Amino acid sequence: MITRDRMPGGMDAPVDCSSKARRQNYFMSFDTLGLPKQVLKAIVDLGFETPTPIQEQAIPSLLTDTRDMIALAQTGTGKTAAFGLPLASLVDFNRRDTQALILCPTRELCMQITRDLQNFTKYCGSPNVVAIYGGASIEGQIKEVKRGAQIIVGTPGRMVDMIERGVIDLSTVDFAVLDEADEMLNMGFKEDLDQILSETPDEKNTWLFSATMPPEVSRIGRTYMSDPLEVTVGQKNQGNENIEHVYYVVHQKDKYLALKRIADFFPDIFAIVFCRTKAETQQIADQLIKDGYNADALHGDLSQAQRDLVMKRYRSRALQILVATDVAARGIDVNDVTHVINYNIPEETENYTHRSGRTARAGKTGMSIIMVNMREQNRIREFEKKIGKSFTRAQIPTGMEVCEQQLIFLLKKLHNVAVDEKSIEPYLPVAFEELNELSKEELIKRIVSIEFNRFFEYYKQAPDLNSGTERGSGGERKGTRSDVVKLYMNVGQLEGFNFGTLKDFIAERAGIRNADVTYTDVKNTFSLVEVRTEVVDAVMKGLHGANIKGRTIRVESRGNKEAGISRTRLRSDKPGGSGKSFRSKGEGYQGKKDRKGPGGKKSEGAPKYDWNAIFSDKPMRADGKKKKKKK
Ligand code: AMP
Repeated sequence: MITRDRMPGGMDAPVDCSSKARRQNYFMSFDTLGLPKQVLKAIVDLGFETPTPIQEQAIPSLLTDTRDMIALAQTGTGKTAAFGLPLASLVDFNRRDTQALILCPTRELCMQITRDLQNFTKYCGSPNVVAIYGGASIEGQIKEVKRGAQIIVGTPGRMVDMIERGVIDLSTVDFAVLDEADEMLNMGFKEDLDQILSETPDEKNTWLFSATMPPEVSRIGRTYMSDPLEVTVGQKNQGNENIEHVYYVVHQKDKYLALKRIADFFPDIFAIVFCRTKAETQQIADQLIKDGYNADALHGDLSQAQRDLVMKRYRSRALQILVATDVAARGIDVNDVTHVINYNIPEETENYTHRSGRTARAGKTGMSIIMVNMREQNRIREFEKKIGKSFTRAQIPTGMEVCEQQLIFLLKKLHNVAVDEKSIEPYLPVAFEELNELSKEELIKRIVSIEFNRFFEYYKQAPDLNSGTERGSGGERKGTRSDVVKLYMNVGQLEGFNFGTLKDFIAERAGIRNADVTYTDVKNTFSLVEVRTEVVDAVMKGLHGANIKGRTIRVESRGNKEAGISRTRLRSDKPGGSGKSFRSKGEGYQGKKDRKGPGGKKSEGAPKYDWNAIFSDKPMRADGKKKKKKK
């Protein structure tokens, strides 16, 4: 450990950064953290307005406290800036020797941290932040180090290589940062870390950042640090609060179809699908490409150049679905990932934390999905215990639900499309002439049908893919559980709920634990819910008759005798504006009779929605004339 004999340049009078002061100052700004002017200027350029919780907690201490630090923070919480901004402030960029060393598990992360550090230090004299990673020419990296690198960001393997070649001098290092320490240990870098750190002086400061705190990471803390300050954002080993954890139970043979259905159900999905092996990764990606999705594979059998290309396409959103192995996807930091899909249940619970951390970054929300088969269901508890959050069991959407979602998406797109008046103007007379005869209603139907028919054709006979359930009965599970009660609620997606938020809402209003709500299936205008028998009274009391967005909530039992509530008739029509227009008569829960079972051929109930009657009752031929109906 060193004593802090330098203070960040340009720092004004000491600022009160105690947690009390932070609490009082609700909208904390970077100005109050004690960062020097040149770093604040770089922050302005980056567009960061307020520090994230880990930055708030770590930055003042790292700037002024000479103790080591262990920080527990998930990926995507802003931890790079939490250590990077203090480094930009404390390193002397007028010297050429190496004063800071950052070790991280992957090339991808190494490049990302280097880019971030280059941004943070851009107004700090003559900075040289150098990335040292495998899979690229070592000569170029040696040249950069020789030029004088004040900060080195390295992956352990290539760092050891550089040390053994005698081309790197770490004897002047004042700050060593171990980023994603748990990942480095998972990847077997323990010995490399020992070797690299033994090259650095004992009196340096060590800052360890980790998403999880397994015993091996604590051990590293004890080995390399003395009396470290502990900073935790969220609970230990807990996943990001903004991630909704969901699982689907599906037969192994139906997994691929289920994946496609999930992708289609979320039309603006931007996902990473994790597979177990390189072969499976390639196979799923190939199949998705063949089926017309913007997808590609990322795994270790690809050359570095191929991997870089895939990542470039994913980052630029030319790809919507990235299918990856754990190793290849480590350190991927792409913002706005909406879904992480575990095609198989992860073998290690630690892996799940890392995979799910690829979504809900930088304050956004995201969904992490596991597809399990019947036998694997019990393992979900392990994950819940690990992350300290409960999973929601969700139903693979039916074909018609996919169509409905696609339709809503299409309508929104149509509504919001930017019209380039100038460019389109010359073509409008032809368009008007061609479509002149059509009424507004007919025109809308036809425009929507162009896109919609494709989905409808594909999904109109689609089987139920949920394993161990009779989805047909509106999400009811096969078999009976005497410890839970099934309830119907007259609120759903139209009120802005999804399975996670409805669960939270019920728990909050009823004053029960989230775990007491064992199941939610949220439809457009209603929801089916299961709660533990002992909380049913609280749920009825807290929710039945309550108001949300001007609607009175109704909660009705689906007839569990053990709950002592008589079965009430379930409505088939639902109020709710726009939703109504997408529904045919009799929509809503209609009992088991009208639905199809898993893998069933023809479906009594399909299609429940009379889409043809709504949109394509008079499809146009290419020549613009109306098609005759088939007899
Ligand atoms: P990290 O956890 O360091 O990988 O950061 C995740 C993302 O959050 C990165 O894209 C950062 O650029 C961004 N970020 C970090 N700090 C802030 C902040 N204070 N305000 C807005 N975005 C931030």
